[in-house]
Amino acid sequence: MTLPMTCLSDKKAHFVLIPLVAQGYLIPMTDLALLLAERGVHVSLIITPINATRIRPIVQRSIETNLPIQFVELKFPCAQIGLPDECENFDLIDGSYFLPFYGVYNLLRDPLEQYLLAHQIPPSCIISDGCNPWTAEVARRLCIPRLVFHGPSGLFALCNYNISKHKILHHLTDYSEQFVVPDMPLTLRFTKANAPNFFSAPGWEKLRDDAFESERTADAIVLNTFEDLERQFIELYEKVIGKKVWTVGPLNLYNKDEYSKSLRGNKLGAEKQEIVFNWLDLHTPKSVLYVSFGSLTRKNALQLRELGSGLEAANKPFIWVLKDAEITPEVDRWLSDDFEKRVQQKGLICRGWAPQLAILSHPSVGGFMTHCGWNSILESISLGVPMITWPHFSDQFTNEKLVVDVLGLGVSLGTETVCWMPAADDKTIWVHRDDIEKAVQKLMGEEEEAKAMRRKVADMADNAKKAMEMAGSSYDNITQLIESIML
Ligand code: UDP
Repeated sequence: MTLPMTCLSDKKAHFVLIPLVAQGYLIPMTDLALLLAERGVHVSLIITPINATRIRPIVQRSIETNLPIQFVELKFPCAQIGLPDECENFDLIDGSYFLPFYGVYNLLRDPLEQYLLAHQIPPSCIISDGCNPWTAEVARRLCIPRLVFHGPSGLFALCNYNISKHKILHHLTDYSEQFVVPDMPLTLRFTKANAPNFFSAPGWEKLRDDAFESERTADAIVLNTFEDLERQFIELYEKVIGKKVWTVGPLNLYNKDEYSKSLRGNKLGAEKQEIVFNWLDLHTPKSVLYVSFGSLTRKNALQLRELGSGLEAANKPFIWVLKDAEITPEVDRWLSDDFEKRVQQKGLICRGWAPQLAILSHPSVGGFMTHCGWNSILESISLGVPMITWPHFSDQFTNEKLVVDVLGLGVSLGTETVCWMPAADDKTIWVHRDDIEKAVQKLMGEEEEAKAMRRKVADMADNAKKAMEMAGSSYDNITQLIESIML
């Protein structure tokens, strides 16, 4: 394979990438690591043993093709917070462990430093996730630049910066009180509960302030987005933060062949691809709705049944992904004895991890009901699939506003309430079947509004592809980013 080498000085480039141990971060940063390695940069991707196991075929392939990338497995000492050793990913733990989980990171500092000091190529920079403020000290001690990689959109980064600067979350005590994000070119209303900030929940204040400080003191910012998608927000963010913002996405477009797409994030996806594709091949172009809510959010049994009833009533073909953690014995009985039999002509249930990127790339898929995780949105947009939006927590409410209100690429289900990991006996229904039915019919129907959305998202998909191709904005940004570090 001929690698497009970036013109570097004689110094060897060694980039150290440190994602958060959550699928929404590991996946795009693995893409970035592979992409940088293909451009001739030596990359150390810091992961943990369980997360490495999930992507073993990708690791194996990069060894076989001599890509200059090392997947560095640092043990994540979960036992320190009373969790079994294998719980190395946010999708393996209960929400009550999330905050202590961040604390475990501090224990990676010494092993990471030892690895970097012993490496034959001195590190040139660290690119670490915005939720990993502990890496600031490592970069300081090693005297190397540190870039913050933000998982979500430019709009989120800008809103987050402005509300942090004005200390809006410090001042609000009521979690349901509305506020308008300051210094924005459009009016965006949130509550403290669904604010554009990862750490707005009670008890998370220190992490919130550390993350803001680590962004403020970073040498530059890296965003998984592209200029044509949200130019005005990226430019404003760069202006207010006063440092270079490199847009390098959509990173999912790094994966070109079907096998890479279905392996992405978890090799289990590749095992399901044949069944899913055989089913999709039976359907006409753009007729199928893909329903999936990322790697973390869960629904209670009643909400799952309500969603199922809405999908059934809408009478459009669908693939619905249910997480293992959601399939309680009660849900399993309902699915196997009742729902799956009733909808078998129309619907395919995918249990556990699905090959999402491969599914969204299939020509039969014409809509995506999503929780608005930023990766899911970028994947949908870059593959030309319009969306039904159902945000659950965190950046998802901001991402929804970008998709629906700013870009006009989706239909909202209208929920503003944070709900993402309900207790097993929770009986709340957040979104009702009639609303689901109406949204599906609207998105998958033939009204002018739906057709316009399809045209717009197809245009944006073209822009996304151009951004990642040679001479495209994200391609050039990656070149310049590497050069800026190696000057
Ligand atoms: N994903 C997948 N299969 C699944 C669930 C999720 O491939 O069954 C991938 C999805 O394509 C995306 C990532 O996991 O790349 C989820 O990231 P996102 O930002 O959308 O949501 P999060 O999981 O962080 O809430």
